[in-house]
Amino acid sequence: MTVTVRFAPSPTGNIHIGNARTALFNWLFALKHKGRFIQRFDDTDVARSKQEYANAILYDLHWLGIYPDATDYQSRRFEHYDAAVERLKTAGLLYPCYETAEELELRRKVRLSRKLPPVYGREALALTSAEMAAFEAEGRKAHWRFLLPNYEDGDPEKTVRTDVTWTDVVRGEETVDLASLSDPVLVREDGTYLYTLPSVVDDIEMGVTHVIRGDDHVTNTGVQIALFRALGSEPPRFGHHNLLTTSTGDGLSKRTGALSIGSLRAQGIEPMAVASLAVLIGTSENTEAVPTMAELAEKFDPASVSKSAAKFDPADLTALNRTLLQHMPFAEARDRLAVLGVTGDNAEAFWLAVRANVDTVADALNWWKILRDGPATPAEFSDEDRDFVRAAFELLPEEPWDGTTWKVWTKTVMQATGRKGKPLFLPLRQALTGPLPGPDLASLLPVLGREGTLARRP
Ligand code: GLU
Repeated sequence: MTVTVRFAPSPTGNIHIGNARTALFNWLFALKHKGRFIQRFDDTDVARSKQEYANAILYDLHWLGIYPDATDYQSRRFEHYDAAVERLKTAGLLYPCYETAEELELRRKVRLSRKLPPVYGREALALTSAEMAAFEAEGRKAHWRFLLPNYEDGDPEKTVRTDVTWTDVVRGEETVDLASLSDPVLVREDGTYLYTLPSVVDDIEMGVTHVIRGDDHVTNTGVQIALFRALGSEPPRFGHHNLLTTSTGDGLSKRTGALSIGSLRAQGIEPMAVASLAVLIGTSENTEAVPTMAELAEKFDPASVSKSAAKFDPADLTALNRTLLQHMPFAEARDRLAVLGVTGDNAEAFWLAVRANVDTVADALNWWKILRDGPATPAEFSDEDRDFVRAAFELLPEEPWDGTTWKVWTKTVMQATGRKGKPLFLPLRQALTGPLPGPDLASLLPVLGREGTLARRP
């Protein structure tokens, strides 16, 4: 069977690096197993879901290097969920309840005071049709609960410990006791769906073989496994990864926009810096900058993921970014440099000279301007240094220039002036690029050319 995974966010906000972790785990899993990746929007909450967010999520995924094989929206599939509801009702596994939130809260307190587990007591199962009709006449509408298979002798009153177990792709053996849970509400009073049922119906009908998601869903998995079986299907495999938190332990939220993929993009963070951190943090692998998705897939091992929260420092992204840029070939940077106005015969040599000195691709523009127009603030030399630099400029070799020119030149200067080390190099650098530190001058010199260099004569 083709490995099939899905990434199923609700399009109610922009995705952040924690959501990217889930998307990437699925994508890399699919890559590793030559499988399919379905982009599914869990937008049954039509009031909060927006097409703009779905579009933005697709854009972010593409930017990260994730290309879904198919895209679907739950809001277009209500008839499938309605059909599943009918099947569950017919099987006596979905029952109407009329309690208000206040009534439920009161019952919960009573149960707690009697040292009973604070789960729903299935009181609604005992309702007669006359009682139900009375509720309806009062204007109440039913919400619908799924009868969990956690009882014996065919009697829902007699709940018994019922372990649902699975071998989690990430966490290993997992168990959820269905007797510790309330029968979940699948359909609200107003007829809208909670996430639990549509997700299972889709996973069945879309042939999902592996559900990889955050570990906040472990308990849901117990319920959903029961639901798969109630609908006559074998459950898929499950994997639950730890969630990303900031170093202070705070969770990430789609609402706050903090660490959204869009904001990281705007800061000039490279997609593979985001992907490397999002995937490798909180695993036994080192968090290092991995330049391509294929190499990240090589490194990715769901079983190496730790069970505790994956704390990360956003500053790590800058460090990873620098490392990626240091090794980024010109071919990869070319179009983006061109957008910045960095074009022409020198563009490649320029990029290779400055890439080790930039935090972002856009930073290259500052160096480009310095090379074109000279340092933003010209260096202030002592008389002695000015004379030295002028003398050095008299000794510039004739063109053509290449990577060896700097060495040849400075050697000549050393012999002629007797200066060496810092007193030799510092004034030259200040004349050429201004503030320290800067790109390697041996690489920079051919980019400046003889004319460009002479233009910097103090
Ligand atoms: N819409 C759910 C969420 O974002 C999907 C969970 C799942 O992958 O099943 O939490």
